[in-house]
Amino acid sequence: MDTEHFRPDKIRNIGIIAHIDAGKTTATERILYYTGITHKLGSVDKGTTVTDWMPQERQRGITIVSAAITTRWRGHQINIIDTPGHIDFTAEVQRALRVLDGGVVIFDGVHGVESQSETVWRQADRYNVPRICFINKMDRTGADPQHALDSLRQRLHAPLAVIQVPLGREGDFHGVIDLLNMRSVLWHDDSGEHPEIGEVPAHAITQAAAAREALLETIAETDDDLLERYLGESPIETAEWIAALREATLANRLFPVLFGAALRNTGVQLLLDAIIDFLPSPHDIGTVQGVHPDTLQPESRPLTDDAPLAALVFKIVTDPYAGRMAYVRVYSGELHASATVLNATRGKKERVGRLVRVFADRRVDIDKVPAGEIDSVLSMKQIFTGDTLCDPEHPLLLENIQFPNPVISVAIEPITARDKDEISKALAQLAEEDPTFKVHTDANTGQTILSGMGELHLEVLVDRIRLEHEVGIRTGYPEVNYEETVARAVQHIEGNYIHQSGGRGQYAHVVVDIRPGERGSGIQFFDKIKVIPREFIPAVEKGVQQAAKTGMISGLVVTDVEVSLVDGAYHHVDSSELAFKNAGSIAFKNACQAATPVLLEPVCKLEVITPNDYMGDVLGQLNGRRCEVDGTEPMRDGTQTIHGYVPLSEMFGYATDLRSITQGRAMFTMEFEHFAPVPEKVLNHLLEKRGIKPPAKGQRIHH
Ligand code: GDP
Repeated sequence: MDTEHFRPDKIRNIGIIAHIDAGKTTATERILYYTGITHKLGSVDKGTTVTDWMPQERQRGITIVSAAITTRWRGHQINIIDTPGHIDFTAEVQRALRVLDGGVVIFDGVHGVESQSETVWRQADRYNVPRICFINKMDRTGADPQHALDSLRQRLHAPLAVIQVPLGREGDFHGVIDLLNMRSVLWHDDSGEHPEIGEVPAHAITQAAAAREALLETIAETDDDLLERYLGESPIETAEWIAALREATLANRLFPVLFGAALRNTGVQLLLDAIIDFLPSPHDIGTVQGVHPDTLQPESRPLTDDAPLAALVFKIVTDPYAGRMAYVRVYSGELHASATVLNATRGKKERVGRLVRVFADRRVDIDKVPAGEIDSVLSMKQIFTGDTLCDPEHPLLLENIQFPNPVISVAIEPITARDKDEISKALAQLAEEDPTFKVHTDANTGQTILSGMGELHLEVLVDRIRLEHEVGIRTGYPEVNYEETVARAVQHIEGNYIHQSGGRGQYAHVVVDIRPGERGSGIQFFDKIKVIPREFIPAVEKGVQQAAKTGMISGLVVTDVEVSLVDGAYHHVDSSELAFKNAGSIAFKNACQAATPVLLEPVCKLEVITPNDYMGDVLGQLNGRRCEVDGTEPMRDGTQTIHGYVPLSEMFGYATDLRSITQGRAMFTMEFEHFAPVPEKVLNHLLEKRGIKPPAKGQRIHH
């Protein structure tokens, strides 16, 4: 039974997406319990949940690894791809979104939409992932269904299909009216296993009837035939409404909304029903697009078992018992144990190891992974996150996932000789699991530098090096990754590399224009002349790219500059690639100097939720950290949400400071948003602190 393969239309590959603390882990636990996978209710607060299996996740009470877990409901297989809530791990969220077909987005019934849910919502929009919304924590003081719905509509601009009305407010919340079936579902027993289904209670009939009308109208508007029949008052079966809402959800035209309180075991079974009823199966997704690895011509594969294999590796986990586990999603064909497949990303063939299906706390060997399924492959050494596995006779490369550059770094140093030997192994293994962090050796200090997406990301990596890999390391203070750019355009700047005193000389003369490029565009090089022989042009570009690695102000990377080669000269004997490369470097440096160099710093979007009483103190503290407050929003539970933008460099230690002025009653989230120029009053101080001489008199630093 555990090894049975379901037809694609009976599979749901879903992710549970939420702002940290909204209740994703608790809801997942309840799902596993009601679907019979676990036999005890785990608790986040006691650290006994199944999905949070890494020790530091338990310590921190957050979920980091997107493990995929299989379960069953109403004759369907549901594969839950666990997505991280903390925004430092956005890359994990993105990767998970790539392989799942539908999402359950969990909101907090008091706070409604919070910043991370908004970010993840936008990412899900980008991948066109159909979603249902679960408004959790309806039992909490201050939980307010109307406010939550308003915030979904206003902040996410999401067209909602509200399919339930909650029964009972706050501590008295005990069930919902299911508007499609016009029935009440109440949870009385402790474990929530046996919801009682009954009539709509008399006191709620008017409200329920109005809510049902609004729902039916919303659904009818997505389907012309249905609308006509609805307006003509012809009878329409419940199953037809469900089918129409399914269609609209799959097309991202409507998002069904449900209410519940996972911790109180209320509402979870209806959420499972909704996953089956409204979220897509692999069959609905149909064909997958990719490119031929050699020609890069687009190709597609159908979702059938007899088509050539195409599968994406979306997660590598090193398990203490099973070793290296690669989670794969098969899009077409079948992945067979012991078959030889082509890794199209790396151009190498490899034999498939054991195939296992992961059920919360146990694994079962299976013979194959058919199209549509998500399972795990053991002991394949040469596959990594993001790789495509395919039929060697029919190579296909599925789109790879792009990750942003790290914005924060920390120096790490092994403590003993043994640690020194082990550290590279540990880093290599972590890199396989998490492609978003980078390691390099600082050219000046020789230190090993670890760079990641945020302070917490680095902390987690350091913890994992220490705990999982048992390597002793010391760490420095984390530092922000700055970049440089130019403030204005300059024209006709020369770069000469001319040494012609006897023998064969060096001769290269180039002239460039530069101007500021768009944020995120990097260094773009354009050749606008035909004076210099073609073979030297790549050398000029190389020189420019090399010079861009060490900027004018701080020696950091120069980015977002458009460089055009507009003139030059060569000598038929003395010119060489090397001479043109050097001339390119010189011209770029001269041009940047003239174009007013600017130091850029990473700026984050910040959200703080604080009780009203501490509002003044919290704002004062933010002000001291150069935060630009964008707005504040009062909540019904006596808290305020502050939105703003703040330089990442100002946020070290903020968690501790916020905790101390609010007695631990406020929380915040932050994510990298963009690079922005460092204000002048901060710049000199910053350069001094980093041991860089402030700019010489007369050299203008733009701000
Ligand atoms: P995650 O960070 O999204 O995985 O959220 P968790 O499942 O870890 O829950 C965060 C906190 O909210 C924990 O203390 C839970 O006990 C609590 N919690 C989760 N669901 C509910 C709920 O329905 N009602 C209430 N009152 N608390 C909840």
